[in-house]
Order: sequence, then structure tokens, then C-alpha cells
Amino acid sequence: MAGYTPMMQQYLSVKADAQDALLFFRLGDFYEMFFEDAVTAARELEITLTGRGAGQEERIPMCGVPYHSAEGYIARLVEKGYKVAICEQVEDPATAKGVVRREIVRIVTPGTVMETKSLGEGTNNFIVSAAELSGRFGLAACDLTTGELYATSFAFAKETLLNELNVYRPAEAVGDAASLVRLREEAARTGAALLTTERGPLANAEALLKEQFPKENWDAQEPVRRAAVARLVAYLGETQKRSLGHLQAVKFYDPKQYMALDAFTRRNLELTETVRDRSRKGSLLWLLDKTKTAMGTRLLKRWIDQPLLDRASIEERLDAVEALHGRWLEREELREELKEVYDLERLVGRIAYGTANARDLNALKVSLDRIPAIRAICERLASAPLAKLAGGLDGCADLAAEIAAAIADEPPVSVREGGIIREGFNAKLDELRVASRSGKTWIAELERQEREATGIKSLKIGFNKVFGYYIEVTRANIASLPEARYERKQTLANAERFVTPELKEKEALILEAEDRMVDLEYSLFAALRDDIAAQIPRLQALAEQVASLDVLQSFAEVGSEKRYTRPRFEGGFGLAVKEGRHPVVEAVSEGVAFIHNDTSLTRDDGSILLITGPNMAGKSTYMRQVAMISIMAQIGCFVPAKLAELPLIDRIFTRIGAADDLVGGQSTFMVEMKDIQVMTEQATDRSLIIIDELGRGTSTDEGMAIAQAVIEYVHDVIGCKALVSTHFHELAHLEETLPRLRNGCMAVKESADGVTFLRKLVAGAADSSYGIYCAQLAGLPQSIVSRAYSLLESSASLEAAATSIAAPARERPAAQELARSVLEASPQGGEPETGQSAEREQPEKPLHNE
Ligand code: ADP
Repeated sequence: MAGYTPMMQQYLSVKADAQDALLFFRLGDFYEMFFEDAVTAARELEITLTGRGAGQEERIPMCGVPYHSAEGYIARLVEKGYKVAICEQVEDPATAKGVVRREIVRIVTPGTVMETKSLGEGTNNFIVSAAELSGRFGLAACDLTTGELYATSFAFAKETLLNELNVYRPAEAVGDAASLVRLREEAARTGAALLTTERGPLANAEALLKEQFPKENWDAQEPVRRAAVARLVAYLGETQKRSLGHLQAVKFYDPKQYMALDAFTRRNLELTETVRDRSRKGSLLWLLDKTKTAMGTRLLKRWIDQPLLDRASIEERLDAVEALHGRWLEREELREELKEVYDLERLVGRIAYGTANARDLNALKVSLDRIPAIRAICERLASAPLAKLAGGLDGCADLAAEIAAAIADEPPVSVREGGIIREGFNAKLDELRVASRSGKTWIAELERQEREATGIKSLKIGFNKVFGYYIEVTRANIASLPEARYERKQTLANAERFVTPELKEKEALILEAEDRMVDLEYSLFAALRDDIAAQIPRLQALAEQVASLDVLQSFAEVGSEKRYTRPRFEGGFGLAVKEGRHPVVEAVSEGVAFIHNDTSLTRDDGSILLITGPNMAGKSTYMRQVAMISIMAQIGCFVPAKLAELPLIDRIFTRIGAADDLVGGQSTFMVEMKDIQVMTEQATDRSLIIIDELGRGTSTDEGMAIAQAVIEYVHDVIGCKALVSTHFHELAHLEETLPRLRNGCMAVKESADGVTFLRKLVAGAADSSYGIYCAQLAGLPQSIVSRAYSLLESSASLEAAATSIAAPARERPAAQELARSVLEASPQGGEPETGQSAEREQPEKPLHNE
């Protein structure tokens, strides 16, 4: 440090405490960065890199951003995965001796951003921490903007951790070296960027937890959960450097409470984002989102991420949805009220942080004002769960009244410039306001008198921050001014500004009153904000209830608009769906009617359905639809079917072509095999397995052999419900040896014009793939298509020759016959799709390898 200027020495000692962050060092109206930080920030922010003498021979790199526009720059750096340490002047430069004292007041990191502009209001921003103790893994996750804090633990398994990370999609993680390795590995598989910070063991974990969560019974919690939560709280303290009043309760859960959905299944089923461009639009979340509040939107995502396993809780949600389902009027009223409710969770976050302004408090009041009406609507609906919800709604009317009494109707953004407190709220403030106002009247009167005395009509009295009040006279009129009384203050191009002793005297009084007014307003405001901060748990409870209600009405809204029905849980093994539809495909296929299909997976009737049939016939849509219906039912939503009798499914396992792990650089086949391995390990007889195109990606013989072996394993060992599609028609014979397996296929009509996909599932196996026909639809050159047909013909005649030598051909249900009968019965739900429209859709789904 020797040789550096004192200011630079101060910089270096502050920087020593923020090695892994870019240090924004406050110098007057700027935040400056030096050395490596300056080089990095200049590059990332595209701002000019300059140099500065620092007492040594060489100049050091430097760059800076203005204080008033820093927020945008900080947000950009954090978005790029940097931490930004903000170092402020913590004493008044005017009174400081020597170098002004400076301290880091907060470290902004990707997982602890509070400025919600960059986050999007319907999305959470999580930071997680992890700990591991003798094989048990603990995970804590916090969204600092809303104050949500969750903790869980499980016997460590990569898959379980990956599933949890998929729920949170954290931006940042903290933990010891070993658990960070695990987090990084699994996060890489979610494809999300994760900033990690390593921290060693905590000495004061117990004390920290007791202090932050005094009401929690920590002894009842597993040590590994305690460790994870303590580490998170410690890290938040370290970066935020303030008390975190809105983190008051931890929500503990066991991953086993929820339906297990692995990463591939979430992606494949497009629960919260689409496979193609990871956008919300086109996902189940998008379809079900008719929420009116940001809290509701976030909670909806959580519900979709964590379908329930507890029947009573599911029925409770369904009861509420049912009550709202048929009541259009009440629902409309409720939606109108909810629309006016602001993001209570994030308002509470800002109140706890001391960053809420007067407008935020008004937003809180406006929101609280809606609660009585919301409660009344719920009560009118005469449903037990809604009545319970309504009964528990604490509208915090006392807080609303406090805000109404104190805060002006349209306060400014700033809380340091006055104008935020209502007249009549505080006698002293009113007195100061009168003084200030009468001062201003006095000035207006003075202006009039001065004009009269001097005869200068254009004379005026003005005010600016540097010179205070002044009398301004244009150059042309200067001569008529009696010099003695007027003291020259400032010369402008064509005017002069003066003061008089009496103006100076009055100015002092007015400015003092104004200063005191602003100070008093601020302290009244801060006191009110603190009062509210003390009631945070009530507001958080309210926010949670409003969010649930919002999701429930959203379910009812979508459900009644799309004619969904209430699923029934019989508690048994079987799954029976009448006229089921795929909710999203149905919603996005405008103009083309969606063809509904039945599903029956029972112990007696067959719990495994083996589906054959051509590409583009609708196999994978059908299989996904069954999974979607189960998930929707277990989050408490009505389902797209005429009737659904469902079991509680503990895990959905899908292996569907589209989501190959290209990121991981593995071959499709290897990925499939690994997934199947996980399935054999984790599926139970209460699971639902969906495999599309089982056995593709290797040679025909091997593929078929593996497919058969896997199906037998599912049948004999796991014994769960399964939907399997394959292009190996040969596997249809399994129906004869596996008693709980049934063949099915998607009906197709052949005619002179080509092939029509009927999208109808019928019993029996298909006998053609129409692969070449699909190639033709895709627009392959005619020469390739013709050649393929002729090759197919010659191999078919070879095969025919072979079978005539081998055993007599198996009897197979004549699927095409059935198809014909289906066609004749003319399916309800509209016209089946023809090959021509399939051609339009083709680019969305590549043809499979046949
Ligand atoms: P496969 O898995 O047999 O190749 P898909 O399930 O991918 O076929 O379906 C192909 C296309 O057909 C999809 O893009 C979908 O839009 C449409 N489709 C599938 N099932 C139906 C249905 N039941 N009703 C209407 N359109 C459907």
C-alpha cells in the first residue's frame, strides 16, 4: 500500500473485504472503479476506461458511473453474473477530517437483487444454500424480494437434487466446497447459470438461527436443514448488511410430499416453459395462468412444480375450484377485486428493507382496502374451503387506516423532499406549512411592492438552490434602480440579480421552515413504515392467502372456459379417462378440432398400453395428455376430459424423444438408457411411465430386444401404469405373453388422396408406419420417395417369404378394420385432420428414424 494516496489506501482496504465483487466506490456524485474491476466493468458496461494518478509512478485504470443512474449499471453487471459491492461515504464530507469514511453498505448479487424491475413480477428469484451430513443433503432456498424461505432435506441422490433445482432455478448458491460441487453439477444439467460462493463451516449457526427465527423449534429440525438455513442466513447477512425483518418463517417440506417430476419430464411435458424456446407461452403454466396478482402468478408456478400427493389437500383445492367454477358472476367480481391488489410480498420486502416510499404505502393501502370485498365474495360462495380462507383473511384494516391518515393522495417518489404527509396529520407539520406558505405570500407581496417602488414592471422575485431568493431586473431597467438598498448577487447575460436585507431575513425563515418540514415529514413517514414493518407476519399471511385464492380462481376460470371437469380420486390403482384431451395442444390448435380419446389403465384391463402407429398419428400427444391430466388433477385443477377417475401418482417418468440432452453431449441412445436406468431404480407401482419410441437409436435387432426387455421389466418388476410407443410392430406379440399389457394404435385412413390421421386410439396393433408417406409430406424429392417405396416392397417380399417358412403368422386384431369403423362412426369433436394439414405442422416435429 505504501506510496498510494490516502484515498487509494482506503480503497484498497475496503476492496480487501470484497475480493469476489466489483467495488463501486463512491466519490462525490460518482461510483468509481479501479484496477481490474475498472477493466472488467468498462468492458461489460461499454463505458470509457480512463486512468488516475494514485500516488505511484504508474496511473491506475479507472472508470465510473454517475450516482443517480447507477441502478441500471448495477443491474446489468448482476445479470451478467457479477457481484457488486456498493461502498458509500458514511460521514458528511463537510465535517469530515481527512479522508471521508467509507463502508460497503450492501453487496448486490444475482440471488439477492431487490430491484424488481430486472426480475419480472411473475417470477421468483432464488438463492439456495446446501449442506451435507452423513449422506443426508439439506437445501434451503430464499427469494429475498418476497421473503419466502423454504428448506428441505433428503438422502442424497443426484436425481432428487436435480428435481429440487428445477423447482427453484436458483441464480446463486452458497455452500461448502463439497456441496457446491454437487450443486454445480446438477445446475449445469438444468442449463441455468449459477454463481457460487464457497463458505466454510459456521461457528455460530445455532445463535444465528435463534436470532433470525425466534419462534422456530430448531431442535425438531434435522441438523442438515439447520446447517443449510444457517448458511443462507449468514450469507444474506454478509451481503445485505441489514436486518432481514421479512424472513420470519421457514417452510419445511420433504420432497416425498410431492409428485416427483424429473427434469426431463418437466421439460418434455412443457410444464412451465416450452422445449423449443424456453418461453412461458405454450406451456401448461401459460395455459392455466389467469391470475390477477403477481403473487398468484408465482404461486401458480410453484403449484405446477409441486403436484400434491395428499388426497385431502388436493380435494380441498378442488372443492374451492368447484365452488368458483359454476359461479361466473362471483368469479368476475373476485377478479375485479384481485386486479387492484398490488404485489404484497414485494411491498413487504421493501418495507422491511426500508426502501419502500410513500407510493408503496399507498399501494399497500389500496390493496388492503379490497380485502373486505374479497372476503364477502368468498363467503357468498358457500364452500367450506373458501369460507375457511375468508375467515382467516386478516385485512389489516388498522394499517390501512394508519396509512390513509398519514400519507397524501399523490405523494412524490422521493421521501426526502416533502409533500408526502397529509394535512391535518401532524400539528407541528401543519404549523410549519402555514409558516412556509405565509412566507411565500409575503414574497409575492414584496414583489408587488418593489415593482411599485421602482416602477419596473418586469421586476420579479425568483429562487434557486444556489443563491436562494433574489430580485431580478433586466439590464435595460438597471438604471432606474436605487443602488443603495440592493446588493448585487449574480450577473446574467441580460439581467442582474439582487438581494435586500429584508429578503435575506425572510429567506432564512422560509428555508428553515422548509428544511424542518422535510425532516419532519421524513421522520413521520419512517415511523409509519417502521410501524408497518412490525406487522410483517400479518401481511405475509394475507399475501399467501390472496395468492392461493388467485390461483384457485384462475383454475376455475380456465376450467369453465375450456369445459374441464373435476377429477375423482378413487384411492385405487386404476386410471380411467373418458374423452380426454391434451390441454395445450387443444388450446393452440385453432380451427382444427382436437380429437378426444379414452384411457383405461387398470390391473384387470391392462396397466401397460403399447402404442404402435405411424409418425404424426398423435401417439406422443396422447401419452402426454394422460400425464398432463394427472398433473393437473394433483395440483387441484379441473382436467380436460368428460370424466376422470384417477389414482394418486407418486412420480411421472417420461422418456420422450424431443428433449435429447444435446447440452450434455451424450448420444440419444445413451441418454435414453441412463433415463431408463433411473426409472428402474426409482419407479414404484404408483408411478406412471411414459416412453416414446422405445428402443430407437440403435440397430433394429438390439433396439427391439432392449425394448422388449424393458417392457417386461416394467410389467413384471415395477408393476406400474405405463404408456409405451414403439415403431417395432413386431412387439405387438407381447400382448400374448404379458397379461397386463394391451396393444393400441392410432387409427389411420388410407385413400386414393393419401393418408388421413384420425387421431383416434383403437385397440390392436398398427401394421404400417407410413414413414415414407411422412417423408413425402415433408417434401423430400420424389426420386427419394419412389426409391424408398421400391426398397420397401422388395424387403417386404423377402419378409413374406421368411414368414411363410417360419411358424404360422400370429393372429393380430385388424387395426385398420377398427379404424374404418371409427371413421364410419364419425368421431365427435370435429373433423379429423387430413394429411394436408399434417404437412403444415410437419416442421414442428422431425420425422423419427424408422
Ligand atoms: P406422433 O407421436 O405419433 O408422431 P404427435 O403426437 O406428435 O404424433 O402428433 C402429431 C401432430 O398431430 C401434433 O402436432 C398435434 O398437433 C396433432 N395431434 C395429435 N393428436 C391430436 C388430436 N387428438 N387431435 C388433433 N390433433 C392432434
